[in-house]
Amino acid sequence: MDKPVVVFAEFAGKVVPTQSLVEFYAQNEIVKKASKALAVCWATAALTIFIPIIHLVLTPIAFIAGPFAALFVFFKVQKLPRLIEGSVVCQHCQKQTHFRFHNMNPRYYEICEHCRTGYEVLWPAKEA
Ligand SMILES: [Zn+2]
Repeated sequence: MDKPVVVFAEFAGKVVPTQSLVEFYAQNEIVKKASKALAVCWATAALTIFIPIIHLVLTPIAFIAGPFAALFVFFKVQKLPRLIEGSVVCQHCQKQTHFRFHNMNPRYYEICEHCRTGYEVLWPAKEA
């Protein structure tokens, strides 16, 4: 399910294309992450059930929110890259600089290896 995409980087308002490799999460990893969101909500519901007053509010909310949280994570993670790795020509010193983002949520900030100019790798990428 790796699509050919062009990832752009932004240097102080100037957007330039990068040479990047993008990997997406596999279906079973997405399901695992969604299940974890559900588990966290239901664990919260289970724990708060013993707390007076709070259990009237938080327990039902956490219980009901579980499946929604799982769906939210499911759809969100599908669009997220598991790995973005590549290089771009720094717009400040004109040298190639590398970046690698693994298992991270946007936004992707990096600095040039040579002159330490900050830039952002833009996500979502544009489909080629
Ligand atoms: Zn630079």
